Amino acid sequence: YQRIVLASRPRGAVTADNFRLESVPVPALEEGQVLIRNHYLSLDPYMRGRMSAAKSYASSQQLDATMIGGTVGEVVASRHRSWQPGDQVNGMLGWAEMGVSDGAGLRKLDTARIPLPAFLGAVGMPGMAAWYGLNRIMQARAGETVVVSAASGAVGSVAGQLARLRGCRVVGIAGGEEKCDYVVKALGFDACIDYKAGRLEADLADATPDGVDAIFENVGGACLDAALARTNAFARVALCGLIAGYGGAAVPINNARLLLINRLTISGFIITEHMDCWPQGLRELGALVADGRITYRESVTEGLASAPEAFMGLLQGRNFGKQLVKLI
Ligand code: NDP
Repeated sequence: YQRIVLASRPRGAVTADNFRLESVPVPALEEGQVLIRNHYLSLDPYMRGRMSAAKSYASSQQLDATMIGGTVGEVVASRHRSWQPGDQVNGMLGWAEMGVSDGAGLRKLDTARIPLPAFLGAVGMPGMAAWYGLNRIMQARAGETVVVSAASGAVGSVAGQLARLRGCRVVGIAGGEEKCDYVVKALGFDACIDYKAGRLEADLADATPDGVDAIFENVGGACLDAALARTNAFARVALCGLIAGYGGAAVPINNARLLLINRLTISGFIITEHMDCWPQGLRELGALVADGRITYRESVTEGLASAPEAFMGLLQGRNFGKQLVKLI
């Protein structure tokens, strides 16, 4: 089967040379192992951090090893008593058509009412990040105004819809008219500001006449500054991601004075450190997706070889919704 390994660490922007596609033999299973065929591979911004050797919250990815990544697929052979051929599973098998697991971290999926790839998006890690930021950090109440950046994306789309379901006024920030249109019309946000239109601060002020009570931050830089400038006293910021800085740019907060005068709370979080929340969160997200109360969009490329290009696109905002690779 084929896999993609990290061939070199990026200097600045990620390039195709940083990856290498290889063929490897299907290993013989040992007792306690399962063989899985991956149907979809998840591409996520955090992978950029793992490619670099710089210190972060997680250790970096080793060179010449399979690129890390979440997957959904099917058990094709098993020497593990808990897993049978045909079981649909979510795991971390990486950028590969197949993989062997000992069952640790493997989750059995019920696809009766939820499509398989949704377990990598709204009913998976990105959905859980949205759920945690909203419920445990922002604690937004009905009637409050919430701002969500990267609003059309895997995390932002769920965060905003959860806030809407709570009765908040939700204002998204996204790049381009098409994404903003989708955020308002399909996702039901009250407004969405196109930060590429060049009037971010004025447009955000117009869309938040009562100020901002909570921020779900995915981007950093100008988006975060504009949202902070609109905060009311005691506003909460769930700092989920700073994608504007993943290419190496600094992501300063322009006016730290606001943190003081508005008595703000900013909490960063890493969703994989809160596994105790996952059963409840995934149950709630699964029910909302199955009932159609949370909708989402996917950008899907086909074949493992398409992964590097799709990943570079994700880091430049070329994706529109959850970025996936369909393996054939
Ligand atoms: P998305 O599906 O939102 O895709 C990334 C989007 O970021 C792009 O489509 C782009 O949308 C937007 N973006 C904004 N500014 C930039 C910029 N300067 N450069 C590139 N892209 C930009 O990704 P996810 O939903 O998977 O992730 C969203 C954020 O959440 C990321 O920061 C990620 O690291 C973080 N995250 C954090 C987790 C945690 O545990 N803390 C867990 C999961 C994700 P647009 O065109 O609108 O600009």
